[in-house]
Amino acid sequence: SSLTKHYPVPRQKLFEKRHMLRAVDGVSFRIAEGEIFGLVGESGCGKSTTGQLLVQLVKQTGGELFYQGRNISELSDGEMKSLRRDIQIVFQDPYSSLNPKKTIGWILEEPLIIHRIGDKRSRRKIVAETLEQVGLDPSYAGRYPHELSGGQRQRVGIAAALVLTPRFIVIDEAVSALDVSVQSQILNLLKELQQKRGLTYLFISHDLNVVEYISDRVGVMYLGKMVEIFTVGEAGDGPLHPYTRALFSSIPDVKMKRERVTLQGEVPSPIHPPGGCAFHPRCPLATDKCRVTAPELRRVAAGHEVSCHLYEEANDTP
Ligand code: SF4
Ligand code: MG
Repeated sequence: SSLTKHYPVPRQKLFEKRHMLRAVDGVSFRIAEGEIFGLVGESGCGKSTTGQLLVQLVKQTGGELFYQGRNISELSDGEMKSLRRDIQIVFQDPYSSLNPKKTIGWILEEPLIIHRIGDKRSRRKIVAETLEQVGLDPSYAGRYPHELSGGQRQRVGIAAALVLTPRFIVIDEAVSALDVSVQSQILNLLKELQQKRGLTYLFISHDLNVVEYISDRVGVMYLGKMVEIFTVGEAGDGPLHPYTRALFSSIPDVKMKRERVTLQGEVPSPIHPPGGCAFHPRCPLATDKCRVTAPELRRVAAGHEVSCHLYEEANDTP
């Protein structure tokens, strides 16, 4: 269940070797039913690729993916089709994912037609009900995407993910392009829908504020690897990994239990990730060991896993 996705990088004249981009490198985690699992990290860390792997928009080059205890690479075509209904994705920019020539009603009805759900009348009813559930009047079915505001388009994007009554939704930077006030409306809508329908989310964002607000647990990715998984709020003991703490330090008003960590330098290229701990060139706490040996993701407390040498010893001595 350790997922890997390598992308071949087009051969460049200067290089003889064919390079592989390790977009996701041995990432392993579980999401519980009814949970909101947040995935955070800087752009290019592999969080979108992880989301696309979970909905199988891209196939893993290594590792296994389990859904409700079943290895999805072993599913029949029929089982795969119902899985595609069960697992949906909401993208950052609904404008580019909504066909500009089609009405909202057509956009929402199409997946129902593809999955042969209902007759025309019952499909229209599902579309009207879904529009209402995302806070849009059913009359929006007759409108075109360009007639809608950014927030309304994202509501349609959410409605498009909901019409097939999925159980699991990957939400990839769904509020990043929106104004702050619209952001909180959409976040509250997502939370409300999750509670009402008992949904499970993988909520992806580069914005730790947003992720912490909506999530039960948060996974932090750096250069294709999961470096920390922690429980949010009172139930958790606060993030430990120097990278996560650096992400939190850049947010004002966050009370840190430990000393501040400041991020230095740029994210290194994922084509040639640094040896040892991939974070070591930017980590103020790096030691010689960090430059040579890669730490593994280890459990440090209930609901808390960290990949950092600083937290290994405490765990080794019971
Ligand atoms: Fe920093 Fe070393 Fe921990 Fe990596 S393993 S985060 S370099 S202290
Ligand atoms: Mg992305």
